[in-house]
Amino acid sequence: MSVQSLKKYRRITVKIGSALLVDRTTGLKREWLASLAQDVGTLAAGGAEVLVVSSGAIALGRTILGLGKRALKLEESQAAAAVGQIALAGAWSDALGGHGLKSGQILLTLGDTEERRRYLNARATISTLLKMKAVPVINENDTVATSEIRYGDNDRLAARVATMMGADLLVLLSDIDGLYTAPPARDPNAQFIPVVERITPDIEAMAGAAASELSRGGMRTKLDAGKIANAAGTAMVITAGTRLSPLMAIERGERATFFKPSPTPVKGYKTWIAGQLEPAGRLTVDAGAIGALMSGKSLLPAGVKLVSGNFARGDTVAILSPEGREIARGLVAYDAADAVRIAGLKTAEIETVLGYEARSAMIHRDDLVVSHAGVQGGAGAQGGE
Ligand code: GLU
Repeated sequence: MSVQSLKKYRRITVKIGSALLVDRTTGLKREWLASLAQDVGTLAAGGAEVLVVSSGAIALGRTILGLGKRALKLEESQAAAAVGQIALAGAWSDALGGHGLKSGQILLTLGDTEERRRYLNARATISTLLKMKAVPVINENDTVATSEIRYGDNDRLAARVATMMGADLLVLLSDIDGLYTAPPARDPNAQFIPVVERITPDIEAMAGAAASELSRGGMRTKLDAGKIANAAGTAMVITAGTRLSPLMAIERGERATFFKPSPTPVKGYKTWIAGQLEPAGRLTVDAGAIGALMSGKSLLPAGVKLVSGNFARGDTVAILSPEGREIARGLVAYDAADAVRIAGLKTAEIETVLGYEARSAMIHRDDLVVSHAGVQGGAGAQGGE
């Protein structure tokens, strides 16, 4: 089976890597952009809503400013992004306009998807754009992003946007045409994988850390994006964007890896929790707790063996198996200091230790999402109770 036709998808997020759009010497690749805009026009004419997540601001700004290949200081790459983004947005507006499509620029900062209130706000704006039949053209707001507060790669940003908007498909266009059993540039025996049922630890092990000079991503962040997307019921496709009309190339059956969405996707509020990019802490739990989580129960302090990280009440934390594999995520009901004090304790003992009447759960089931891979992979631990 290869990738299915794009025609059945109603809301499609397309992520475009910098190397596809920008040539270091000649700047913007206009012919390529025109061909992609035509593809977007074809999908839109078929009734699909398309969102574009476009990288290329820093790369384009470098070219315009003549900064060459040298490493940039933070403020230089922020300045390059400022110069590049204005040109990039103009180019998209022209290219899509050439096919009768309106477009609107959205620049996101990490907090716009990670903080619940801002997430709802960003979602409302993007929905309104779609209602007005304008193509949202989205990028990270690199001009103010610093290393502590940035997505850093547009693969995960695109996954966060796709799931926030309930897209049924995320397409990652880059310089690699799909997933291989090993990075093909380093291993001549690497086998192409057309379909991934579920991103398991074995699949993750296939991704090397490699990335091209222009992009920040590499296969690692693409699989991270896949986990976010698939958990929320969004299918993902990785294909090479290097040819002209890369979306229609998928339609023609060119090589691409298709990542199936979870058959039991998380919804609404839980999509936001499941896709959080940087959990503020980690709770390692015992087999009994894993069994309880798998059957839809809350996480009680008694099952928590180890607490790490410096989190506040309400922050997202990852729940790890004794082997260190992430099995769930949730909003924690205690701050890190209290969580350490009550880890392993029975509910009745907690009040004595904390000196106040406490909630019984460390993470309430309503604030908890078991991960897509964790459901299957953790099943063996269910007998532990
Ligand atoms: N936001 C960056 C840019 O537009 C690109 C990040 C990425 O390549 O993933 O330059």
